[in-house]
Amino acid sequence: MPKGDGTGPNGMGSKSGFGKGQAPQGGRGRMSGSVSGGPSGNCVCPNCGHNESHLRGQPCNQRQCPKCSTMMTRN
Ligand SMILES: [Zn+2]
Repeated sequence: MPKGDGTGPNGMGSKSGFGKGQAPQGGRGRMSGSVSGGPSGNCVCPNCGHNESHLRGQPCNQRQCPKCSTMMTRN
């Protein structure tokens, strides 16, 4: 290796180490935005049309409409 100072024959090749040096960004960030309904939503009664705010951790289809006791669906 002729007087190699670290650069090597092809300087650009050894210099561009971004292929494995950086972690991929934005791979997970987009997932949350594509969820249908999002973090907040409403539950709607298919029978009478009553809707109320969706409670977190409580699926709409497990709630009853306070007016007609019909199982609500997610809006
Ligand atoms: Zn109802």
